[in-house]
Amino acid sequence: MTTLNARAAAIVRAAGWALPRIPVLWSARMVRCAGLFVVERDARGRHHAEIRLSIPLLRRRDWPWPQQVCGVNCHDPESVLLRILEHELIHYKLWKDGAKDWGHSEDFRQIAWSAFGHQSITHGIGVEE
Ligand SMILES: [Zn+2]
Repeated sequence: MTTLNARAAAIVRAAGWALPRIPVLWSARMVRCAGLFVVERDARGRHHAEIRLSIPLLRRRDWPWPQQVCGVNCHDPESVLLRILEHELIHYKLWKDGAKDWGHSEDFRQIAWSAFGHQSITHGIGVEE
């Protein structure tokens, strides 16, 4: 089985981005969003970025298919996982490139569309409330 880190590296490579690897971790406690890009500051003031993925949402296998993720129809759990990873990696790219706003900015939207064909900007699976 391909690891999360290998999947993330493959996405970055395919997009043609020169980015160092970012840790990608499973989280059992995240239930409101499928993925999250997190920057934390250590005691020495250095910033560390990581991506967290929701076990409850992404390991669920009984979705009614297809599910809309990032505005893209997904037909299996693997494609859901990849769309969420792509989304979080855009946050990482913007942050690493020094963007002031690495949230859901206009730049974000353009990259999401041109690199991955995402038609909407969400962290969820299916229709969000
Ligand atoms: Zn986002």
